[in-house]
Amino acid sequence: MPNFSLPDSVFLSAAEQFPTPFYLYDEKGLRENARALNAAFSWAPDFREYFAVKALPNPHILKIFREEGCGVDCSSECELLLAEMAGFSGDAIMFSANAMPPAEFDHARALNALINLDDISDIDLLAAHGGIPETVCVRFNPGGDFTLGNAIMGAPGESKYGWTREQLSLGLPQLKALGAKKFALHAFLASNTTDNSYYPKLSGILFDLGAALEKETGLELAFVNLSGGVGIPYRPGEKKADLAAIGEGVRREYQRVFGDPAHGKVAIKTELGRFMTGPDGWLLTHAVHEKKIYRDYIGVDACASNLMRPAMYGAYHHIHICGKRDAAADHLYDVTGCLCENNDKFAVERPLPRVDLGDLLVIHDAGAHGFSMGYQYNGRLRSAEVLYREDGQMQLIRRAETPEDYFATLV
Ligand SMILES: *Cc1c(COP(=O)(O)O)cnc(C)c1O
Repeated sequence: MPNFSLPDSVFLSAAEQFPTPFYLYDEKGLRENARALNAAFSWAPDFREYFAVKALPNPHILKIFREEGCGVDCSSECELLLAEMAGFSGDAIMFSANAMPPAEFDHARALNALINLDDISDIDLLAAHGGIPETVCVRFNPGGDFTLGNAIMGAPGESKYGWTREQLSLGLPQLKALGAKKFALHAFLASNTTDNSYYPKLSGILFDLGAALEKETGLELAFVNLSGGVGIPYRPGEKKADLAAIGEGVRREYQRVFGDPAHGKVAIKTELGRFMTGPDGWLLTHAVHEKKIYRDYIGVDACASNLMRPAMYGAYHHIHICGKRDAAADHLYDVTGCLCENNDKFAVERPLPRVDLGDLLVIHDAGAHGFSMGYQYNGRLRSAEVLYREDGQMQLIRRAETPEDYFATLV
């Protein structure tokens, strides 16, 4: 079920203070997500969530997660700069390499961040750019399909990420010869899944693999990084992931492979993005046009440059109309933006109550991979971001772009 934690009065009040479109984030909800995750893994040695910065790259949000004990997962120069801006350093930063300019290793090593290598060839690049640290994380790709029960959850064999099993046996001794003392394992095998067996199954694979590689290489396994992938219920009727059940499932696998976690030396890390911020961000937009041809269209003042997921993936985002939560959904609309692209639709043939011009539409579950995927196609500019603080204040945490911003890079 999409998140209906805020009353319409909050959305309406925000829309009185700031022109639409803009993103609204709920501080209380963000903190609750971090606390629920920390509680679910409180049994685990040295647990830490590294919030995936790409999901919501705003230092005000990162600071909230820092206060909740989280680190950050970065994979670009600018994401490292954001992490610094928000006060992170050292092992509170995970740097996940992936075909990026090798000089970015220099920056990550200067910050003393944890390094996650995407490929065996990264060993030489890292050695030349900042050197091999004591602990190196490596990303595993098991190939083939990844299944949970009868369901195919992902196709690692087609994914660009990670090392093969054979490469781990070759590369870890190379890292050891270059001075590494410990290794860590990471894998990301399913995206946006609310299936509570995902992390337990993934952890079992990585724990078994880590134990085997410890024996094989003589390196110590420092931690297992379960990465992102825990999903959120975008559609009505979908269930939330049950973090307590997920944490308990991972604990059982830990016990099976390493024994009692109370005496365990292998730490657990996660890099959730979507789960941490997705449900607690909304895109607010006004209905500004109505058009009736072969279908009924509602034109809004946001467009796919503000929220790309529906156009890019056909993703479902729930929409409600402020003041009409309980009205019958007896109209069928395509809700569209103003781009000259026919996929610029936030909803297609969506049952909604009657929409009147001037209505405030709330697009749900936009807090992750929403603003951050924005672009400027058609000369449409990125919107503002507003944080609804726990004390009731509406804090502007990013202003909307202006034409001057759009032209700033012209030579
Ligand atoms: C995108 C990403 C994440 C976060 O994924 P979510 O689906 O948002 O949880 C975590 N780790 C890495 C390396 C990623 O690329």
